[in-house]
Amino acid sequence: MLSLIAVVALIALASGGGGATRRTPSPGPARPVMALFPISHPGASPTAAVVVGGITPAQSAGIDRVLAYTKSISQGSARKPEVALTFDDGPGINTPEILAILEHERVPATFFEMGRSIQAYPAFARDTLAAGFTIANHTVTHPFLAHLSEPEQRREIVGASQAIHAYGAPSPRLFRPPFGSFDNATERLVHAERMLSVLWTVDTRDFSQPGTDQIVYTALSGAKPGAIILMHDAGGPRGQTVAALPRIINGLRRKHLRPVTVPQLILDDPPPRGLPAPHNLSGR
Ligand code: ZN
Repeated sequence: MLSLIAVVALIALASGGGGATRRTPSPGPARPVMALFPISHPGASPTAAVVVGGITPAQSAGIDRVLAYTKSISQGSARKPEVALTFDDGPGINTPEILAILEHERVPATFFEMGRSIQAYPAFARDTLAAGFTIANHTVTHPFLAHLSEPEQRREIVGASQAIHAYGAPSPRLFRPPFGSFDNATERLVHAERMLSVLWTVDTRDFSQPGTDQIVYTALSGAKPGAIILMHDAGGPRGQTVAALPRIINGLRRKHLRPVTVPQLILDDPPPRGLPAPHNLSGR
């Protein structure tokens, strides 16, 4: 019996007990890759679980169907009890906290990323993609697009798509104009890039740091089936947004509203035809 223990101890020593020969864990992905979508869509077919860059072929086809009748949306329809949480201006220093909350809660979301932010925080951009979230376009430098010439606008819009593609995400199918500022040239350019312009139903105004309670209240009081909720994971201090997010998710669940990505909202609940097109929201 003693010799057996000795043999076991020897094997343990030989297999890595010694300091000099200790194996370090092989480097894996920086974050665990989580399968958000099969959990969030239990009725989905197995093929729907294949998500590249947070968008499935079916969702992409759904965007094409909406692009056939409008260039710009601010909501889905009320057919299903779904809402879309969206985060703008990232990635930034608070993005990992936002991702951690969403992953913990198994909540999908859409990130409208800026080219400049991707350049500053490329690892967080890759984390967002690897976790299965939808990546969308929010220009390179966040200008009032309606103030720019068409070539300048093209550089902002195409440049952000290129920055997104460059770190491994598919070319984005969704675009959001900074400040809600756009004109006919913006719409032409975005449409030529096969993107749908996505404004919002609810502006939490979290960028103004109105307090966590106020952000939660604004998000939940405007949340209804088909709503697109605007928040920010970057562009300034986002501690209030981070603190508000778990409470918003809980509140949505109490209202029996299911968070989905914007492409899933468009697939399940496309906006009805004939809605007035959203107008330039910036007033500039
Ligand atoms: Zn923005």
